[in-house]
Parts: sequence; C-alpha cells; structure tokens
Amino acid sequence: MKIKNPATNKVIAELTDNSPSEIKSKLNTLRKGQKEWSRLSVRERLDCIVKFGELMQANKEELAAILTSETGKPLQQSLNEIVGAQNRIDHLKNNAEKWLADENLVDSGATHEKIVYEPLGVIANISAWNFPYNVGYNVFLYALVAGNSVMYKPSEYASLTGKQFEKYLHEAGIPKNVFMCAIGDGKLGQRILKEPFDGYFFTGSHATGQKIASTVASKLVPVQLELGGKDPLFVADDVPDVKVAAVNAAEGAFYNNGQSCCAVERIYVSEGIYDDFVEAFVNEVESYVLGDPTNPDTFLGPLTREQQIAVLKDQVGDAIAKGAILKTGGQAIEGEGYYFQPTVLINCTHDMKVMQEESFGPIIGIQKVKDDEEAVALMQDTEYGLTAAIFSSNEDRAMEVLRQMNTGTVYWNCCDRVSPNVPWSGRKSSGLGATLSVQGIRAFVQPKSYHLRS
Ligand code: NAD
Repeated sequence: MKIKNPATNKVIAELTDNSPSEIKSKLNTLRKGQKEWSRLSVRERLDCIVKFGELMQANKEELAAILTSETGKPLQQSLNEIVGAQNRIDHLKNNAEKWLADENLVDSGATHEKIVYEPLGVIANISAWNFPYNVGYNVFLYALVAGNSVMYKPSEYASLTGKQFEKYLHEAGIPKNVFMCAIGDGKLGQRILKEPFDGYFFTGSHATGQKIASTVASKLVPVQLELGGKDPLFVADDVPDVKVAAVNAAEGAFYNNGQSCCAVERIYVSEGIYDDFVEAFVNEVESYVLGDPTNPDTFLGPLTREQQIAVLKDQVGDAIAKGAILKTGGQAIEGEGYYFQPTVLINCTHDMKVMQEESFGPIIGIQKVKDDEEAVALMQDTEYGLTAAIFSSNEDRAMEVLRQMNTGTVYWNCCDRVSPNVPWSGRKSSGLGATLSVQGIRAFVQPKSYHLRS
C-alpha cells in the first residue's frame, strides 16, 4: 500500500497489506491473548493505558508530524488532537474501575444476586482517518480496559498513525497478542467482516456503515456504528455579538478543513442579522491561511482524499444552478496537493446538495430563516442525526429548539465539540450505539447475572 502526502501528492511510505490468512492467524492469536488479558484487574489494564498516554504525550511532536504527513492536517491541529485525546485516558483512569465493578444487587436472604460485566472477547475496530486519535481512542482504549483484545484496522489514509498506536501500546505493556493492527484498504475491511469476531466497531461513512451492518447481521454479535452527519447551526437574532457568532461558526465549519463528523455543515440565520452575519463570516473565512500544513500559521491544509474535490465541485455547481450566491471560494487550487478554496454559499435552499449531503470539506451553505419554527423545521429536514447547535443569548429559547432535535448531541453557544464525560452517539443515518462515558464502556462488555444460594 502506497502512502501519499496529500500536500504534495508524493509517496512517503509503502506498507504491505495484510493477507486474508494473516487476518485469520491474527484473530487466533488475539483470542489466546484475550484470555490472559481479561484475567488481569481493571487497574492493571489501566496502568498500561496510562503509560500509553504518557508515551503519546512524550512523543507528540513526532506523532503530529506523522499524522500531518499522511492526512494533510495542519501541524498545530495534529498536535491539538494528540494532546486533546489524552482526556479519554484521564477519564478512564478516574472512572473505569467504578464502571466495571460487579454490582451486588441483593446480598441478604436466601438468594444473592449480582451482575458481573464480562468482556465481549476479540473485537474488530474499523476506523476513519479524519481524527484517528479521537475516534481510535474512543473504541480501542475502552475495549482494552474492559478486557477485550482488539484488531484495529486504521483507515488506509491514517495507517502510519495506526502503526504508531500499535508500537506504543506494546511499549506500554499491552501484550502483542492483545492489540494488533490490520493494514489495508476497504477490501481488507470486508475480509475482516468474514471472520468470527465478537463485535464490530466501525467509524466512517454512512454508506460503509450500512454495508458493514448488513454483512455481519447474521452473526448476532454487537455492531456499533459512528457515522457521518449534516450538522446544523441556528444563529438566532438575539446573539450578543454577531461578529463573535460568525467567527465561532466559521471555526466550527472549517476546522480540520471541514473534515469532522460533527463539523457545522449548514447554517440558518435569523433574517434580522442575516446580512451582518454573512459579512462577518465571509471576512473571517477570507482571513484563513491556506497552504503547507507544516507551516505553523496554516489553518487550512489540503484535503486528505483527492476524490473529495469532485464532490465539492459538484455541490458548488448544483447550489449555484439552483440560485445560491457564491460569496467566496468555489474552486480547487491547481498545482501540487489536494487544495480547495474555503467556500461560502449564501441564499441556500433545501433542494441543494450542499444543504442535504455531507460535504466533508471547506464549504458551507447559509440560509435565511424568518423565525425559530422555520429554523427547527429546516434543521430537522435531514436523514442524519449526529449534532445540532444554536447560538442565542436566551437559554429558554435555546432549550426549546434543542429539545426538538432528533440528534445524539446538542450544543448551546458552542459546536463541533466532543467530551469524554457524555456519550457520543448518532441517530438515524449517523449511527448506532454510543462511545465515551459509562455508556461507551458498557458497549464492550456483556452483563452476566448471578443467582447465588450458599
Ligand atoms: P469510510 O467509510 O470511507 O472508511 C472507513 C473505514 O472503513 C476505513 O478503514 C476503510 O478502509 C473501511 N472500509 C471501507 N469499505 C469497507 C467495507 N466495504 N467493509 C469494511 N470496511 C470498509 O470513511 P472515512 O472516509 O474513513 O471517514 C469519513 C467518514 O467518517 C465521514 O462520513 C465522517 O462523518 C465519519 N466519521 C464519523 C465519526 C463519528 O464519531 N460519528 C467520527 C469520524 C468520522
């Protein structure tokens, strides 16, 4: 497998894909390793994870450079991701023993009753490239702490980072037969689905998630899907400062080049502040530094995948043909690397692809709304259900809007945010199941009920 740098289109490394027989033999190895691993106490397993976190932080500069080289993520954002993902480890350190402890429900009388949380066994984690630290940690660290062994298939666009996870987990004391990488693209992913894992945990697109769920359905093992979104933001007319709202909205839409599952993907603005908002928003977007991701000032690097340029061009053309106004951007940038200008389309309507289909790039559609009722109806007009946000100075107004959102996460005066304290889950086409928090660790265990008479 050739690994290309999206900023230069040059091959920077070559890895050998795993063969189907290697997947089989890795699964057998992981099955043996899991038995020993699950006999350790939660604290012993946590000690390895804590050590892993220390190694990642100690090597963050080198790791950030690797992530930037294979995804084009600006170096500062790569560093932010590595430092930020540590919060999962801190949260596990403080909570996992409590979450995984046996629950003695009846401990008097003739029959005692308790719940023991047992690991699932060997799980497959097929992952995405856009935030490999965040979405990887959400799955494999929680699975390991709960006593499972893990086959981790990084995205073909983040395989060098995946190999670093393997290296440092082993260095931190996780046995080699408890965590293993599987290197390859979607075809290898399909191969993994054929093997008898005890659970399949996927992060990626809706289209792939649907294929995975239907392929493994007959195995009757847990399947969890963290998928895409078309996340709306409503900027209400009572925001205290329209410019601040515009700056924050733009960051939510354009951070990581818009390649976040919970990026702001469409914006609705009250008609009273629409013109001022658009002006401030466009000014902000035009101030972004675009270019070499290794330059510390760069906010927008190249897209990770070349093929996304065609998707963005199509959305721009479709929107303009249906009456949108292109305020800035709209073009791919010729030359080395997969660059696309940050793009703002206004006067959008819901017959446009840019308001319906995940863009996953530096492009945003903005639409004017007359009141909260219209905003809610438009925000809810989507097949997705990952997050929804409102900027407003009125808490009651915000809560009334957020109450009506059929999404796993809602935000008031913030957006594009994930926290280990609360579950991360998508509804409808955005996924199935939850990671993070106590819900996230329960995904990797199965309860066993004990009825005990002495
Ligand atoms: P993708 O679906 O193209 O690929 C994801 C993984 O699936 C990769 O490892 C790939 O090799 C593998 N794969 C591809 N086809 C497969 C198949 N038929 N069977 C098994 N495995 C297969 O997604 P991507 O481009 O890596 O990630 C971007 C998508 O992920 C976006 O839609 C984004 O919104 C979503 N995402 C969601 C979350 C979340 O938490 N909800 C987080 C990050 C990304």
